Amino acid sequence: MKLIFATHNKNKLLEISAMMPPNFELLSLDDIGCNEDIPETSDTIEGNAILKADYVKQHYNLDCFADDTGLEVDSLKGEPGVHSARYAGNRKNDDANISKLLDNLKDKSNRKAQFKTVIALNLNEHQILFIGICKGEITRARRGDFGFGYDSVFLPDGSDKTFGEMTLEEKSGFSHRGKALRELLDYLSS
Ligand code: IMP
Repeated sequence: MKLIFATHNKNKLLEISAMMPPNFELLSLDDIGCNEDIPETSDTIEGNAILKADYVKQHYNLDCFADDTGLEVDSLKGEPGVHSARYAGNRKNDDANISKLLDNLKDKSNRKAQFKTVIALNLNEHQILFIGICKGEITRARRGDFGFGYDSVFLPDGSDKTFGEMTLEEKSGFSHRGKALRELLDYLSS
């Protein structure tokens, strides 16, 4: 089965590709000739996943799935949440986002946080959402060079390694995206 994953993010593509069973062929936006940056203008994570999946349906008339992710920090009242990519400004700079996060948390003892991924699947005129949540905490400093985004400062519950210290396979065993994708794959194989 061919499945289009509506992303230009090479790291997300790597994570999802590594989890796909051999009977699925995964195509990215680049593979279908879509070079546009799909606008993420919703004020919810769900809304942005739907916007990306619907964009591909409307412009290319193709079924696909899209993922949107946010980091929700308890003592920051759920921020950066839907604003995670542009937390430190419009440049979408991972390093600047992490610096701002660590700075905003420097006096906080409650460092609990969660990643939330919503996958929106458009298939045969239906739309289904799959949600994956990974609870953990924000470390006081960066640890590890693997991964992307906020990985080096996120310590998932049940692990002594940050996502930045994990291989792709280890991260997917714990992660929000891994959980949401397993739900999607269960649905497709049922
Ligand atoms: P988006 O889903 O591409 O909009 O991502 C929102 C923000 O969260 C960006 O800053 C990403 O780098 C970050 N992000 C998304 N997924 C992950 C992840 O699995 N680990 C760490 N950061 C992530």
